[in-house]
Amino acid sequence: MTAAARIVAAGGPASLSRFRGALVGAVLGDCLGGDFEGAEDVPLDRVLQHLQDDTRGDGTLQYSDDTAMLRCVAQSLLNRAGFDEQDMARRFAKEYSLAPGRGYGAGVIQVLKKLASPQLSDVYQPARAQFGGRGSFGNGGAMRAAPFALAFKNPAEVKRCSRLGATLTHSCAIGYNGAVLQALAVHLSLQGVLATPQEFINKLISEMEEVENDETARSDARALNESEFPFCTRLHKVKEMVERNSVSIEEVISELGNGIAALHSVPTAIFCVMHCLEPREGLPEQYGGFERTIAYSLALGGDTDTIACMAGAIAGAHYGVDSVPQTWQRCCEGAVEADSLAEHLHNMYHRTPSDGDGVSVSSSNEKRSHSSTQQPKQTD
Ligand SMILES: [Mg+2]
Repeated sequence: MTAAARIVAAGGPASLSRFRGALVGAVLGDCLGGDFEGAEDVPLDRVLQHLQDDTRGDGTLQYSDDTAMLRCVAQSLLNRAGFDEQDMARRFAKEYSLAPGRGYGAGVIQVLKKLASPQLSDVYQPARAQFGGRGSFGNGGAMRAAPFALAFKNPAEVKRCSRLGATLTHSCAIGYNGAVLQALAVHLSLQGVLATPQEFINKLISEMEEVENDETARSDARALNESEFPFCTRLHKVKEMVERNSVSIEEVISELGNGIAALHSVPTAIFCVMHCLEPREGLPEQYGGFERTIAYSLALGGDTDTIACMAGAIAGAHYGVDSVPQTWQRCCEGAVEADSLAEHLHNMYHRTPSDGDGVSVSSSNEKRSHSSTQQPKQTD
């Protein structure tokens, strides 16, 4: 299939196939990436062997905290027909208490335990108090940001709500702005902008120039000895590396990073998607772009489940769900549920007036009508 044919297969902007591809892609990246988490020097043939193993039973590759929290975000946005910080915080806390063994980081566990307290009124307070009041700059807000792009049409709402959703656990500007960048990348990909890669990266840079032009963001960056527009700086680097014909894995790791900090992983995920728009040496010829993106993300090592989860969401939104191998979908826990959540978000998205601000509920009693047939299965 040619690249053009694949884009047609994904459907027009905001098609159901793109929505399903985004969430299924995220979950698969998490599940398939788990085996390589924390590894250094991952040989590509090991990655390809792992991806080609079709002897696994249904759902045997378990998802981690990335998917666990992404489900909570999607369920909350659907259930409240918009962003409700109290509801989202409660879901995070409950999910953690029901399944604490999903690989959560020590920092976020402290926050999730505090969020479980019924006495807590300011749900942003536990995250704000972390690390001597500086807050976390990890990628935990970004890894779960994709559903915000599926819930809101208006990019201003995508930005606002993805920032607030991340701030529940990551209050450092570099942490929550990583989530904004990831949500914007999924948003643009859903609209089909990745068909013109230059436009995609230029739009991300100009959006992030606006996002990072903020006193708190600047002072948080200074405190971490980062440049004043840290994500913009990285995105320029991504652009330059995408334009180069050959880039080694070592360069990607040293220039962009593969770690647990949002700054060292969100731009990396974006690079993986853009780099894999074209066939790449070492990757099987029969692979489509989605498969290339996942394989390449795993080959970087480091925080593979999260980088592949973020890259999987962006790539899935571009190529559509039909580009995601059935064998991969079958062996990953949570893929079926992600598919159904994406369909419900697609319904909600297309019920919103196109010129509206999207729906947004903020701890008010405001209720939106929701027909019962459009409700996802709730686990709580
Ligand atoms: Mg994880």
